[in-house]
Amino acid sequence: MQRTKVKELLTGAEEGKEVLLKGWVRTKRGNKFVNFIAVNDGSTIQNLQVVADAEKFGDEALKDVTTGAAVSITGQLVASQGKGQAFEIVANTIEVVGKADPETYPLQKKAHSLEFLREIAHLRFRTNTFGAVFRVRNTLAFAVHKFFNEKGFVYMHTPIITASDAEGAGEMFHVTNFDLDNLPRTEDGKINYEEDFFGKATNLTVSGQLEGELAAMAFSDIYTFGPTFRAENSNTARHLAEFWMIEPEMAFYDLKMNADLAEEFIKYIIRYALEHNREDIEFLGQRLVEEDKAKPQNERQEMTLLEKLEFVVNNNFERVTYTEAVDILMNSPAYKKKKFQYDVSWGIDLQSEHERYLVEKHFKKPVIVTDYPKDIKAFYMRLNDDGKTVAAMDILAPGIGEIVGGSQREERMELLVERMKGVGIEEEDLWWYLDTRRFGGCPHAGFGLGFERMVQFVTGMGNIRDVIPFPRTPGNAEF
Ligand code: ATP
Ligand code: MG
Ligand code: MG
Ligand code: MG
Repeated sequence: MQRTKVKELLTGAEEGKEVLLKGWVRTKRGNKFVNFIAVNDGSTIQNLQVVADAEKFGDEALKDVTTGAAVSITGQLVASQGKGQAFEIVANTIEVVGKADPETYPLQKKAHSLEFLREIAHLRFRTNTFGAVFRVRNTLAFAVHKFFNEKGFVYMHTPIITASDAEGAGEMFHVTNFDLDNLPRTEDGKINYEEDFFGKATNLTVSGQLEGELAAMAFSDIYTFGPTFRAENSNTARHLAEFWMIEPEMAFYDLKMNADLAEEFIKYIIRYALEHNREDIEFLGQRLVEEDKAKPQNERQEMTLLEKLEFVVNNNFERVTYTEAVDILMNSPAYKKKKFQYDVSWGIDLQSEHERYLVEKHFKKPVIVTDYPKDIKAFYMRLNDDGKTVAAMDILAPGIGEIVGGSQREERMELLVERMKGVGIEEEDLWWYLDTRRFGGCPHAGFGLGFERMVQFVTGMGNIRDVIPFPRTPGNAEF
């Protein structure tokens, strides 16, 4: 007999038939006449209830059917008498495929805190919350590919190991196969990277953008979607040392077209998740409602998760310049009452508290902030006519802050080289990148969306560690 997944069983298509269910026991309860076993196989947040007659299955037969055990069950799929679920299985055979010792299995019935589950991240997939989160993550990832492929973008794989630091932020992890106890030195005592594997110093990529630009100059529209690494030594709820980034790059695009695409893209993937993972999102929303009950009134969410997502897909994002955003902040009651931890003035990089003020308190919707001061942005962003700002954009989302960073790129050779020199990059270091301007250069633009921040937004999870299966943060690489 072929196994049927729970999601499929719950459609009732096989009602009245003998079916084969495989999965993991969530709970077992019962009385002296009958036992109810709830089985989950990850295909949906719902468990399938198995009814095991006590006469047929004595205590001995069910003794290893405990929370966490893997089971294989045959039985008849029937309409359920009780409320809740439409179908259940009346068991014929129950086989315990893999036991889970109740004495040591860490995920017994009771609800666990997210902090505790982070300690056992290797097992947390088996909870409702993380089941929902990672199903939503999967759907969003699929939607990313669907969106760009429908638009004719080419999916490009950019290198994980590279010699460039695209962001110039110095947050790189070094890659080497040197014997670290016996490093080769040059005459003046410095490490001799010429003797390293690649013949030069290399690192894990912080962004695929520079390589992506090269590809855009041939395919017109490309996107990358891959792991990105930053040695962030801050412990925040929105930074990981290893995260996934989606980076589209488009030839013949300006900043406005770039912002339009980003907004359309974000709405598309959220809509897709709402259509395909509604149950999961509803469950996660309910989690937040419960969490809110413990909070004072003024800290509670105004909208449920579903309402928030519906609102975002159905309304335009706000668009303001950096200069306008700074004005808003400096004229805000929060600023006047000195509520911000970091001071605000023209020229500062907006901090998370400022971003969240703009989104959550002022505009109450996602905001696209454009035209940042050139000194706080990367060298490749296109200089505006005012000579002070660049054609940059950040997209800020409620509850999170920055989810997208993007820009129109500087296509004018002299200006680009001048900006590179300003941040200490020599022409010969990036000669290959400059070839995009040297040979058939054209206006182009792109952006980077942090995939985990997007997953946070759609699932409502407050901590970025809870939306990636195996979080990498300072001190955490156990599993
Ligand atoms: P932040 O200001 O939050 O540190 P950033 O400006 O350094 O972000 P960018 O270089 O603009 O980030 O990267 C593009 C996107 O990648 C960001 O908008 C964000 O969504 C995501 N991102 C950046 N750093 C991280 C990180 N350490 N962990 C998770 N996502 C990140
Ligand atoms: Mg950063
Ligand atoms: Mg930033
Ligand atoms: Mg940024």
